[in-house]
Amino acid sequence: MPLEVVIKGLRFETSSARGVWKYKLMLPVKKEVEPVSLGEGDTPLIPLKSHKRLFVKFEGANPTGSFKDRGMTLAVTIAKYIGAKSVVVASTGNTSASAAAYAAKAGLECLVYLPRGSVARGKLFQALLHGAKVVEVDGNFDEALEEVIARYVDNTQGHVYPLNSVNPWRLEGQKTIAFEIYQQLGFVPENVVVPVGNAGNIYAIWKGFRELREVGVTDRAPRMIGVQAEGASPVFKTWLAKADELLPVERPYTVATAIKIGRPVNWLKALTAVRESNGFMLSVSDATILEALKTLARSEGIGVEPASAAPLAGYRVALEQGLIGQDETTVLVATGHALKDPEVRF
Ligand SMILES: *Cc1c(COP(=O)(O)O)cnc(C)c1O
Repeated sequence: MPLEVVIKGLRFETSSARGVWKYKLMLPVKKEVEPVSLGEGDTPLIPLKSHKRLFVKFEGANPTGSFKDRGMTLAVTIAKYIGAKSVVVASTGNTSASAAAYAAKAGLECLVYLPRGSVARGKLFQALLHGAKVVEVDGNFDEALEEVIARYVDNTQGHVYPLNSVNPWRLEGQKTIAFEIYQQLGFVPENVVVPVGNAGNIYAIWKGFRELREVGVTDRAPRMIGVQAEGASPVFKTWLAKADELLPVERPYTVATAIKIGRPVNWLKALTAVRESNGFMLSVSDATILEALKTLARSEGIGVEPASAAPLAGYRVALEQGLIGQDETTVLVATGHALKDPEVRF
Protein backbone atom coordinates (compact mmCIF):
# COMPACT_ATOMS: atom_id res chain seq x y z
CA MET A 1 0.00 0.00 0.00
CA PRO A 2 1.50 3.36 -0.95
CA LEU A 3 2.07 5.59 2.01
CA GLU A 4 1.15 9.24 1.88
CA VAL A 5 3.61 11.69 3.38
CA VAL A 6 3.21 15.45 3.48
CA ILE A 7 6.29 17.60 4.02
CA LYS A 8 5.76 21.34 4.09
CA GLY A 9 2.58 20.85 2.10
CA LEU A 10 4.30 18.80 -0.62
CA ARG A 11 2.54 15.48 -0.93
CA PHE A 12 4.74 12.47 -1.51
CA GLU A 13 4.08 8.89 -2.36
CA THR A 14 6.71 6.78 -0.65
CA SER A 15 6.18 3.22 -1.84
CA SER A 16 9.31 2.86 -3.93
CA ALA A 17 8.63 5.92 -6.00
CA ARG A 18 11.45 8.19 -7.02
CA GLY A 19 11.79 11.12 -9.38
CA VAL A 20 8.61 12.32 -11.02
CA TRP A 21 6.46 9.58 -9.46
CA LYS A 22 7.25 10.42 -5.88
CA TYR A 23 4.92 13.39 -6.51
CA LYS A 24 2.09 11.15 -7.70
CA LEU A 25 -0.25 12.76 -5.19
CA MET A 26 0.32 16.12 -6.90
CA LEU A 27 -0.45 14.60 -10.31
CA PRO A 28 -4.01 14.12 -11.61
CA VAL A 29 -3.52 10.35 -11.93
CA LYS A 30 -5.74 7.68 -10.39
CA LYS A 31 -4.22 5.62 -7.59
CA GLU A 32 -4.45 2.31 -9.46
CA VAL A 33 -2.52 3.53 -12.52
CA GLU A 34 0.80 1.67 -12.89
CA PRO A 35 3.59 4.05 -13.98
CA VAL A 36 5.61 3.37 -17.13
CA SER A 37 8.87 4.71 -15.73
CA LEU A 38 12.58 4.71 -16.50
CA GLY A 39 13.55 6.57 -13.34
CA GLU A 40 13.12 10.09 -14.75
CA GLY A 41 13.51 13.20 -12.59
CA ASP A 42 15.72 13.70 -9.50
CA THR A 43 18.16 15.65 -11.67
CA PRO A 44 21.02 17.61 -10.08
CA LEU A 45 20.81 21.31 -9.26
CA ILE A 46 24.38 22.44 -9.82
CA PRO A 47 25.74 25.69 -8.35
CA LEU A 48 27.92 27.60 -10.82
CA LYS A 49 31.38 28.87 -9.95
CA SER A 50 30.96 32.03 -12.00
CA HIS A 51 28.10 33.64 -10.04
CA LYS A 52 27.20 33.17 -6.40
CA ARG A 53 23.50 32.58 -6.64
CA LEU A 54 23.32 30.96 -10.03
CA PHE A 55 22.30 27.31 -10.48
CA VAL A 56 21.84 24.94 -13.38
CA LYS A 57 19.01 22.40 -13.20
CA PHE A 58 20.64 19.72 -15.33
CA GLU A 59 17.85 17.97 -17.20
CA GLY A 60 20.38 16.23 -19.42
CA ALA A 61 20.63 13.71 -16.57
CA ASN A 62 17.23 12.22 -17.43
CA PRO A 63 17.08 8.66 -18.89
CA THR A 64 17.02 9.74 -22.55
CA GLY A 65 18.95 12.96 -21.91
CA SER A 66 16.26 15.64 -21.80
CA PHE A 67 13.41 16.95 -19.64
CA LYS A 68 10.95 15.47 -22.14
CA ASP A 69 11.14 12.23 -20.12
CA ARG A 70 9.23 13.84 -17.24
CA GLY A 71 6.20 14.40 -19.42
CA MET A 72 6.62 11.26 -21.47
CA THR A 73 6.46 8.96 -18.44
CA LEU A 74 2.97 10.33 -17.68
CA ALA A 75 1.69 10.52 -21.25
CA VAL A 76 2.80 6.97 -22.11
CA THR A 77 1.46 5.70 -18.79
CA ILE A 78 -1.94 7.13 -19.73
CA ALA A 79 -1.71 5.81 -23.31
CA LYS A 80 -1.14 2.33 -21.95
CA TYR A 81 -3.81 2.69 -19.28
CA ILE A 82 -6.51 3.59 -21.83
CA GLY A 83 -5.51 0.70 -24.07
CA ALA A 84 -3.76 2.48 -26.96
CA LYS A 85 -1.67 0.22 -29.19
CA SER A 86 0.51 2.90 -30.72
CA VAL A 87 1.65 6.45 -30.08
CA VAL A 88 2.53 9.19 -32.57
CA VAL A 89 4.48 12.42 -32.24
CA ALA A 90 6.01 15.24 -34.29
CA SER A 91 9.26 16.41 -32.85
CA THR A 92 12.36 18.55 -33.20
CA GLY A 93 14.13 15.46 -31.85
CA ASN A 94 14.06 15.02 -28.09
CA THR A 95 10.36 14.27 -27.87
CA SER A 96 10.78 11.46 -30.38
CA ALA A 97 13.81 10.06 -28.56
CA SER A 98 11.84 10.07 -25.32
CA ALA A 99 8.60 8.74 -26.85
CA ALA A 100 10.49 5.90 -28.54
CA ALA A 101 12.09 4.78 -25.28
CA TYR A 102 8.93 4.97 -23.16
CA ALA A 103 6.85 3.30 -25.87
CA ALA A 104 9.38 0.46 -25.93
CA LYS A 105 9.08 0.11 -22.16
CA ALA A 106 5.28 0.09 -22.40
CA GLY A 107 5.18 -2.33 -25.33
CA LEU A 108 3.53 0.21 -27.66
CA GLU A 109 4.35 0.96 -31.28
CA CYS A 110 5.85 4.40 -31.81
CA LEU A 111 5.56 6.56 -34.90
CA VAL A 112 7.56 9.79 -35.15
CA TYR A 113 7.38 12.64 -37.67
CA LEU A 114 10.60 14.62 -37.97
CA PRO A 115 11.59 17.61 -40.12
CA ARG A 116 14.10 16.24 -42.62
CA GLY A 117 17.62 17.53 -42.05
CA SER A 118 16.73 19.53 -38.91
CA VAL A 119 17.14 16.91 -36.22
CA ALA A 120 20.38 16.56 -34.25
CA ARG A 121 22.19 13.29 -34.91
CA GLY A 122 21.96 11.86 -31.37
CA LYS A 123 18.19 12.30 -31.22
CA LEU A 124 17.50 10.60 -34.54
CA PHE A 125 19.78 7.76 -33.44
CA GLN A 126 17.78 7.30 -30.24
CA ALA A 127 14.43 7.15 -32.05
CA LEU A 128 15.79 4.44 -34.36
CA LEU A 129 17.61 2.64 -31.55
CA HIS A 130 14.40 2.25 -29.55
CA GLY A 131 12.56 0.93 -32.59
CA ALA A 132 10.34 3.86 -33.55
CA LYS A 133 9.04 4.11 -37.09
CA VAL A 134 10.47 7.37 -38.41
CA VAL A 135 8.71 9.46 -41.04
CA GLU A 136 10.81 12.35 -42.34
CA VAL A 137 8.72 15.31 -43.47
CA ASP A 138 9.97 17.66 -46.17
CA GLY A 139 9.49 20.85 -44.25
CA ASN A 140 10.13 22.31 -40.82
CA PHE A 141 8.83 21.21 -37.41
CA ASP A 142 5.64 23.24 -37.72
CA GLU A 143 4.74 21.37 -40.89
CA ALA A 144 5.55 18.00 -39.34
CA LEU A 145 3.21 18.85 -36.46
CA GLU A 146 0.46 19.94 -38.85
CA GLU A 147 0.68 16.59 -40.55
CA VAL A 148 0.36 14.70 -37.28
CA ILE A 149 -2.59 16.83 -36.18
CA ALA A 150 -4.36 16.41 -39.53
CA ARG A 151 -3.80 12.65 -39.61
CA TYR A 152 -4.17 11.59 -36.02
CA VAL A 153 -5.71 14.32 -33.86
CA ASP A 154 -8.51 15.94 -35.89
CA ASN A 155 -9.24 12.65 -37.57
CA THR A 156 -9.31 10.02 -34.83
CA GLN A 157 -7.96 7.02 -36.69
CA GLY A 158 -8.27 4.00 -34.47
CA HIS A 159 -6.08 3.73 -31.45
CA VAL A 160 -3.08 5.89 -32.22
CA TYR A 161 -2.45 8.09 -29.21
CA PRO A 162 -0.87 11.51 -29.91
CA LEU A 163 1.98 12.61 -27.64
CA ASN A 164 2.59 16.18 -28.83
CA SER A 165 2.82 19.11 -26.47
CA VAL A 166 -0.92 19.69 -26.86
CA ASN A 167 -1.08 16.55 -24.70
CA PRO A 168 -1.91 17.82 -21.18
CA TRP A 169 -0.21 14.92 -19.38
CA ARG A 170 3.19 15.95 -20.60
CA LEU A 171 2.89 19.36 -18.97
CA GLU A 172 1.75 17.71 -15.74
CA GLY A 173 4.92 15.63 -15.62
CA GLN A 174 7.14 18.58 -16.50
CA LYS A 175 5.79 20.67 -13.63
CA THR A 176 7.80 18.45 -11.25
CA ILE A 177 10.87 20.49 -12.26
CA ALA A 178 9.42 23.23 -10.02
CA PHE A 179 8.89 20.85 -7.09
CA GLU A 180 12.48 19.62 -7.30
CA ILE A 181 13.95 23.12 -7.56
CA TYR A 182 12.04 24.12 -4.45
CA GLN A 183 13.18 21.04 -2.54
CA GLN A 184 16.79 21.24 -3.63
CA LEU A 185 17.16 24.93 -2.78
CA GLY A 186 14.90 24.82 0.25
CA PHE A 187 13.15 27.94 -1.02
CA VAL A 188 11.64 29.48 -4.14
CA PRO A 189 14.27 31.27 -6.28
CA GLU A 190 13.74 34.79 -7.62
CA ASN A 191 14.18 33.78 -11.26
CA VAL A 192 13.82 30.66 -13.36
CA VAL A 193 15.18 30.90 -16.91
CA VAL A 194 13.87 28.50 -19.55
CA PRO A 195 14.55 28.06 -23.29
CA VAL A 196 11.29 28.40 -25.21
CA GLY A 197 10.48 26.36 -28.31
CA ASN A 198 6.98 24.98 -28.56
CA ALA A 199 6.52 26.85 -25.29
CA GLY A 200 5.04 24.16 -23.05
CA ASN A 201 7.85 23.74 -20.56
CA ILE A 202 7.98 27.29 -19.26
CA TYR A 203 4.25 27.06 -18.56
CA ALA A 204 4.57 23.61 -16.96
CA ILE A 205 7.27 24.85 -14.56
CA TRP A 206 5.18 27.92 -13.75
CA LYS A 207 2.17 25.67 -13.06
CA GLY A 208 4.32 23.70 -10.62
CA PHE A 209 5.32 26.82 -8.71
CA ARG A 210 1.75 28.09 -8.73
CA GLU A 211 0.58 24.82 -7.20
CA LEU A 212 3.22 25.07 -4.47
CA ARG A 213 1.59 28.37 -3.60
CA GLU A 214 -1.94 26.99 -3.85
CA VAL A 215 -1.27 24.11 -1.44
CA GLY A 216 0.35 26.52 0.99
CA VAL A 217 3.95 25.31 0.73
CA THR A 218 5.11 28.85 0.12
CA ASP A 219 3.66 32.26 -0.61
CA ARG A 220 6.39 33.10 -3.08
CA ALA A 221 6.76 32.49 -6.79
CA PRO A 222 9.67 33.06 -9.15
CA ARG A 223 9.75 35.30 -12.18
CA MET A 224 9.64 33.11 -15.28
CA ILE A 225 12.09 34.26 -17.92
CA GLY A 226 11.77 32.75 -21.40
CA VAL A 227 14.67 32.76 -23.85
CA GLN A 228 14.42 32.27 -27.61
CA ALA A 229 16.97 32.31 -30.41
CA GLU A 230 16.91 35.44 -32.57
CA GLY A 231 16.04 33.52 -35.73
CA ALA A 232 13.17 31.66 -34.05
CA SER A 233 11.61 34.08 -31.60
CA PRO A 234 7.85 34.28 -32.21
CA VAL A 235 6.98 34.28 -28.50
CA PHE A 236 9.52 37.01 -27.76
CA LYS A 237 8.14 39.13 -30.62
CA THR A 238 4.55 38.59 -29.55
CA TRP A 239 5.44 39.49 -25.96
CA LEU A 240 7.31 42.62 -27.05
CA ALA A 241 4.45 43.80 -29.25
CA LYS A 242 1.87 43.00 -26.53
CA ALA A 243 -0.07 41.36 -29.34
CA ASP A 244 -3.22 39.28 -28.84
CA GLU A 245 -2.37 36.97 -31.68
CA LEU A 246 0.83 35.04 -32.23
CA LEU A 247 3.30 36.79 -34.53
CA PRO A 248 4.70 33.69 -36.22
CA VAL A 249 8.12 33.29 -37.82
CA GLU A 250 7.75 31.69 -41.25
CA ARG A 251 11.29 30.38 -41.73
CA PRO A 252 12.79 29.86 -38.31
CA TYR A 253 16.54 29.32 -38.14
CA THR A 254 18.95 28.74 -35.27
CA VAL A 255 21.75 26.39 -34.30
CA ALA A 256 19.55 25.41 -31.35
CA THR A 257 17.37 22.92 -33.25
CA ALA A 258 15.31 22.00 -30.16
CA ILE A 259 13.81 25.50 -30.17
CA LYS A 260 13.72 26.05 -33.93
CA ILE A 261 9.96 26.57 -34.06
CA GLY A 262 8.07 29.36 -35.84
CA ARG A 263 4.52 28.67 -34.71
CA PRO A 264 4.66 27.33 -31.14
CA VAL A 265 1.48 25.56 -30.13
CA ASN A 266 1.67 26.71 -26.51
CA TRP A 267 2.58 30.35 -27.17
CA LEU A 268 -0.34 31.67 -25.14
CA LYS A 269 0.46 29.42 -22.20
CA ALA A 270 4.06 30.69 -22.26
CA LEU A 271 2.89 34.31 -22.26
CA THR A 272 0.55 33.51 -19.39
CA ALA A 273 3.48 32.14 -17.38
CA VAL A 274 5.60 35.20 -18.13
CA ARG A 275 2.83 37.71 -17.42
CA GLU A 276 1.45 36.08 -14.26
CA SER A 277 4.93 35.78 -12.80
CA ASN A 278 6.05 39.33 -13.73
CA GLY A 279 8.78 37.76 -15.82
CA PHE A 280 9.89 38.60 -19.33
CA MET A 281 11.02 37.19 -22.68
CA LEU A 282 14.46 37.60 -24.24
CA SER A 283 15.98 36.74 -27.57
CA VAL A 284 19.66 35.89 -27.98
CA SER A 285 21.94 35.37 -30.97
CA ASP A 286 23.31 31.98 -31.98
CA ALA A 287 26.81 33.34 -31.31
CA THR A 288 25.98 34.09 -27.67
CA ILE A 289 24.27 30.70 -27.31
CA LEU A 290 27.46 28.99 -28.45
CA GLU A 291 29.55 31.17 -26.14
CA ALA A 292 27.35 30.13 -23.22
CA LEU A 293 27.57 26.48 -24.28
CA LYS A 294 31.35 26.75 -24.19
CA THR A 295 31.36 28.40 -20.75
CA LEU A 296 29.13 25.70 -19.29
CA ALA A 297 31.27 22.97 -20.80
CA ARG A 298 34.72 24.35 -20.07
CA SER A 299 34.33 26.35 -16.87
CA GLU A 300 31.59 24.37 -15.18
CA GLY A 301 31.91 20.84 -16.54
CA ILE A 302 28.30 20.81 -17.72
CA GLY A 303 27.74 19.51 -21.25
CA VAL A 304 24.52 20.69 -22.89
CA GLU A 305 23.03 20.92 -26.35
CA PRO A 306 22.68 24.42 -27.86
CA ALA A 307 19.03 25.11 -26.82
CA SER A 308 20.00 24.40 -23.23
CA ALA A 309 22.72 27.05 -23.29
CA ALA A 310 20.21 29.76 -24.26
CA PRO A 311 19.25 30.43 -20.61
CA LEU A 312 22.85 31.33 -19.70
CA ALA A 313 23.08 33.56 -22.78
CA GLY A 314 19.80 35.17 -21.68
CA TYR A 315 20.96 35.51 -18.08
CA ARG A 316 24.02 37.44 -19.25
CA VAL A 317 21.84 39.85 -21.23
CA ALA A 318 19.40 40.27 -18.34
CA LEU A 319 22.25 41.04 -15.89
CA GLU A 320 23.79 43.52 -18.29
CA GLN A 321 20.49 45.31 -18.84
CA GLY A 322 19.80 45.35 -15.10
CA LEU A 323 16.66 43.26 -15.56
CA ILE A 324 17.84 40.93 -12.81
CA GLY A 325 20.35 41.38 -10.01
CA GLN A 326 23.51 39.40 -9.08
CA ASP A 327 22.11 39.00 -5.56
CA GLU A 328 18.98 37.23 -6.78
CA THR A 329 18.87 33.44 -6.83
CA THR A 330 18.46 32.31 -10.41
CA VAL A 331 17.98 28.81 -11.81
CA LEU A 332 18.85 28.10 -15.45
CA VAL A 333 17.00 25.09 -16.82
CA ALA A 334 19.50 23.13 -18.94
CA THR A 335 17.01 21.10 -20.92
CA GLY A 336 19.14 18.57 -22.85
CA HIS A 337 22.46 16.73 -22.87
CA ALA A 338 25.53 17.58 -24.99
CA LEU A 339 25.58 14.11 -26.57
CA LYS A 340 22.31 14.92 -28.31
CA ASP A 341 24.07 17.14 -30.81
CA PRO A 342 27.66 16.03 -31.38
CA GLU A 343 27.93 17.95 -34.65
CA VAL A 344 27.58 21.42 -33.19
CA ARG A 345 30.49 23.70 -34.11
CA PHE A 346 31.65 26.33 -31.66
C1 LIG B 1 11.82 20.52 -26.21
C2 LIG B 1 13.03 21.25 -25.83
C3 LIG B 1 13.02 22.62 -25.55
C4 LIG B 1 11.81 23.47 -25.70
O1 LIG B 1 10.78 23.16 -24.80
P1 LIG B 1 9.30 23.66 -25.13
O2 LIG B 1 8.45 23.06 -24.09
O3 LIG B 1 8.99 23.15 -26.50
O4 LIG B 1 9.33 25.14 -25.10
C5 LIG B 1 14.20 23.21 -25.14
N1 LIG B 1 15.34 22.51 -25.05
C6 LIG B 1 15.38 21.19 -25.33
C7 LIG B 1 16.68 20.48 -25.22
C8 LIG B 1 14.25 20.52 -25.72
O5 LIG B 1 14.30 19.22 -26.02
